[in-house]
Amino acid sequence: MDTVRVRFAPSPTGSLHLGNVRTALYNWLYARHTQGVFILRVEDTDKERSSEAHCEELMDILYWLGLKWDEGPRIGGPYASYKQSERTAIYEEHLAKLKAKNAVYPCYCTEEELELERKRQLGRGHMPKYSGKCRKLTLEERKNLDAEGKPSVLRFIVPPGEIVVHDEVRGEVRFPDDQIGDFVLTRSDGSPTYNFTVVVDDALMKVSHVIRGEDHLSNTPKQILLYQALGYTPPKWAHLSIIKGPDGQKLSKRHGETSVEAYKSKGYLPDAFLNYLALLGWSPKSGEILPLERMAAEFDLSHVGKSGAIFDPVKLHWMGQQYIAKMSLDELTRSLLPYLADAQYIDRDQARSKFDWLKGVVDTVRTSLGCFSDIVKETFYFFSDELSFTPEQTEEMKGQRALLESYHKAFSEISDFNGENFLKAVKEVGKQVNLKGKALYHPLRLALTGREDGPELAKVGPLLGKDKVIERLTVWTTDQVRR
Ligand code: GLU
Repeated sequence: MDTVRVRFAPSPTGSLHLGNVRTALYNWLYARHTQGVFILRVEDTDKERSSEAHCEELMDILYWLGLKWDEGPRIGGPYASYKQSERTAIYEEHLAKLKAKNAVYPCYCTEEELELERKRQLGRGHMPKYSGKCRKLTLEERKNLDAEGKPSVLRFIVPPGEIVVHDEVRGEVRFPDDQIGDFVLTRSDGSPTYNFTVVVDDALMKVSHVIRGEDHLSNTPKQILLYQALGYTPPKWAHLSIIKGPDGQKLSKRHGETSVEAYKSKGYLPDAFLNYLALLGWSPKSGEILPLERMAAEFDLSHVGKSGAIFDPVKLHWMGQQYIAKMSLDELTRSLLPYLADAQYIDRDQARSKFDWLKGVVDTVRTSLGCFSDIVKETFYFFSDELSFTPEQTEEMKGQRALLESYHKAFSEISDFNGENFLKAVKEVGKQVNLKGKALYHPLRLALTGREDGPELAKVGPLLGKDKVIERLTVWTTDQVRR
């Protein structure tokens, strides 16, 4: 087999979203699996919407994820430049070829005229497509319109006939004759459009497989026609199903964060994030938890499904937990320091002087962490005395005053405030007041942490320390007015 060459071709018009990164990942995995080449090409011909800052940002995100490219911006390669804005001369050359073959014509229709045409067609129950009106203009008429200064775009003449896309994921997809109107290759300012540049670049960069989102499937027949007109062989196609939200609708902000940057700043581990994304459309044979290298060894387009993948933030969180669980306590605690500092729980000096205590705190909650920023909500009560209670919780603790008084007394008498002695005291209190299980623990948990659930109290108590434990119980055992 010839070398596999795949590409990820983002437009730098905003932050990368989950769908983009899944596309990048599948291309990367396929290249690694086949010992092929992974190309990054930046599609920045839309001057108004593209920016250098977005371009840098998207490359930084790919670096962070570990999806490095073999050819592309920053590193170059045999088919440089890998930025479309720097390939104008190449597109002009190809346009000249099409002009010489009379495969294109100028179209002077205005946006308003086109919109009206679309509405009329829809009104008649037809699929909207360009009528081909300007194809019929004579040379003379074109000359006059140009002389008047009428702006024009260039359209490609779509030849008659059915077009069949052989898709590696979806099988044969047929586009019947007469469905596609003559489409635009250059805008009125002369800049080339996506369908044109993508074909020129994929052909010249010898891309063997185009793996991208299903939203581009309707562009594929147009691109096949351009390959034919330019005398190039089309690549193999693989269109990935759209990622949907849990309600079955196309994933959008309504479903939560969709930009990868957001997940990065929440502190998801890149491997966990990629592992989760990989499962949105691909079912690996050997279980769900696969670090990048193992994914690459197993990945194959034949196991990519065509039904829509559902993005489930709960499962992403679960995946995050699996990867955090593999970190050593020391490494994990260090990784959490910036998040604790941001929340103003600790400063740099405390991070150093209280590192062992911090490790203890982290150890109690580590299994709950799907991403690093979870540490902030999980450990609030270790760093702040501002616990808040619902009216029901307040009632519960007021009603349990005798129990909380017994705890107060029992804990005050402990000289070595460790987990073992803490637990002994709790059991002793249980015997005295004749309570066990939730009835015994729940009021104590509420008083110490302000939470309904959480880690073992025998761990929490000693980490809070005797003084704080007594202080938090005193609130409920004296007659002072509660917040
Ligand atoms: N620039 C296009 C996009 O971001 C690339 C589509 C393609 O892969 O052909 O959607």
